[in-house]
Amino acid sequence: MTQFKTLPDIPQLKDKAVLVRVDMNVPIQDGRITDTSRIDRIQPTLDYLINHGAKVVLVSHLGRPKGKADPELSLKIIADYLGVALSQAQAGDELDTAVAKLKPGQVMLLENLRFYPGEEANDPVLAKAMAKPFDIYVNDAFAVSHRAHMSVEAIAHQLPAYAGLLMEEELMALQQALTSPQHPLMAIVGGAKVSTKLQVLENLCQKVDTLVIGGAMANTFLLAQGYDVGASLVESELCETAQNILQQASCTILIPTDVTVADEVSATAKSIDKPVSEVCLPDMILDAGPETVAAIEEMLGVTKTVVINGPLGVFEIPPFDLGTVAILKTIARLTQAGHLVSVAGGGDTVAALKHAEVESDMTYISTAGGAFLEWLEGCKLPGVEALTS
Ligand code: ADP
Ligand code: MG
Repeated sequence: MTQFKTLPDIPQLKDKAVLVRVDMNVPIQDGRITDTSRIDRIQPTLDYLINHGAKVVLVSHLGRPKGKADPELSLKIIADYLGVALSQAQAGDELDTAVAKLKPGQVMLLENLRFYPGEEANDPVLAKAMAKPFDIYVNDAFAVSHRAHMSVEAIAHQLPAYAGLLMEEELMALQQALTSPQHPLMAIVGGAKVSTKLQVLENLCQKVDTLVIGGAMANTFLLAQGYDVGASLVESELCETAQNILQQASCTILIPTDVTVADEVSATAKSIDKPVSEVCLPDMILDAGPETVAAIEEMLGVTKTVVINGPLGVFEIPPFDLGTVAILKTIARLTQAGHLVSVAGGGDTVAALKHAEVESDMTYISTAGGAFLEWLEGCKLPGVEALTS
């Protein structure tokens, strides 16, 4: 893993103007923040900077305003939640003046960065103007570090750049899980489609000892092995790719041997467990079966590190949550007993962890969706690279 500098490496923080990129892209419904976890997790960085007497300016994006001001996507609601002032100052004289007025330990939030076209364009001119009143840049937004945007990439070349505490925590956890993990290492990849996670599967095959393929993407692998998948969600055009993955993998691959099927995706549908060899129309495969779950659990018993992305079934609609919940609870128990290091990420994966009531029992849950996936693909993340060069 490449080296980056962190907050304790900053020689002097007192009276310094610090620009901090955070990810406060939180879900908002009817004018209320429905999940504050992304904001809450930047608090340690904020406290550190305040306690060291820095003048702090936070920047973030919210939603996709596409380079135009949109009152619906104002960060006002976030400023209120944080109890700090929201400044409308734009890069240039306005921002210079606003920053000059800050006192040590004071915090200010700037308006949604994506109101300006230069943000997503990674505009170096905007980066220069933005950087001008600051002494230091801190990136605490791992969740957007897969985007080469101005506040993530270009700006890091304009100022001495450091990783914030959350960024550091994310990078260390991911490194512990894949770069230098304790073996045996297992990855559980599930979810809706093979196509969105092809690269992930190909990269993981080279790194893990056991790869568990679940969710609808397992259907494509079952089809590739010659099974009938009935009316299941499947990507038949990826059969050959699936076959190649199966043939070339240097790891053990676990694919369901039995499944839970129903003839419609609904809570009232009659669900049946059956071996994969008996699936036929009008069956839809909606979850891993009990035999498969037991096989994964047995493997988990001898595993030291597990990376999780994607549910094993349609966990939003019981009883098709049984496989996902059982596996997540087993991982939680083994993690809590000190037998397993568990790292999870992905939007629906986090929802599944909450559904199984084990969000606080994993070793680490990444705040990132897209960045976590790109990292699993083995990609270099522009925001992280910029901190190291
Ligand atoms: P993440 O957001 O964690 O990366 P994905 O977005 O890839 O996960 O996939 C999550 C979705 O996959 C869930 O909405 C779930 O209902 C769906 N899914 C899982 N298994 C199946 C299945 N067998 N058939 C259809 N959809 C499935
Ligand atoms: Mg998803």
